[in-house]
Amino acid sequence: MKKHLIVLSAPSGAGKTTVARHLLATFPEMRFSVSATTRAIRDGEVDGRDYVFLSRDEFRAAISRGDLIEYEEIFGNYYGTMRSQVRAGIERGDFVIFDVDVKGALSLRSAFPDDTLLIFVAPPSMDVLERRLRDRHTETDAQIAQRLARAEMEMAHREAFDVVLVNDDLQRTLDAAERIVREAMMGSPTQPGLFEA
Ligand code: ADP
Ligand code: 5GP
Repeated sequence: MKKHLIVLSAPSGAGKTTVARHLLATFPEMRFSVSATTRAIRDGEVDGRDYVFLSRDEFRAAISRGDLIEYEEIFGNYYGTMRSQVRAGIERGDFVIFDVDVKGALSLRSAFPDDTLLIFVAPPSMDVLERRLRDRHTETDAQIAQRLARAEMEMAHREAFDVVLVNDDLQRTLDAAERIVREAMMGSPTQPGLFEA
């Protein structure tokens, strides 16, 4: 059976945005599920493309209207998957890629058990994760510490995923991700397991 919803999760800094961008560039039929968030916009991000940036009141209103399929409070901000983004995948037969935290990934699988492929992008080590976060220069030291603490919890959930991609050499990771997603889009059963890329 074809998987229309490709869900990527990873500790912050492990490389899932890089993987998601590669998949979007490779597969023209794939769209990115734009999440809603209350966090501040980063340099280079575009409202409506990377996230829909909402105030806390607007986010709460979206929850009450039932516009969100799942949402979590992460690092003091709300993040949630918009129902409208998933509908396009399910009803029109499009392929949709999600960048959500581990709890969001498991919620999407519960909501659409036959239609999801869950991929966990793991860093080769916690030291490498910290280096990548520091070199990205998008968070303060305090925010980096918060993200590393959360990474431990996220790593503990990786075995619930269909596939774990260890992102060491970037090109190998991108090649493995491309192959796994191509198979899922064609409907061939992806062998669950660990891919040391
Ligand atoms: P995430 O979306 O999981 O927070 P990013 O995709 O933003 O992570 O990656 C974090 C940083 O690490 C970025 O600066 C990215 O360019 C870099 N990066 C990603 N994968 C690798 C890799 N395999 N080797 C070295 N650097 C990488
Ligand atoms: P960032 O602030 O780095 O963009 O994202 C922080 C975390 O929020 C990441 O783990 C990201 O995957 C997660 N996230 C982004 N959108 C959503 C969403 O819609 N739902 C959930 N549950 N997590 C999300």
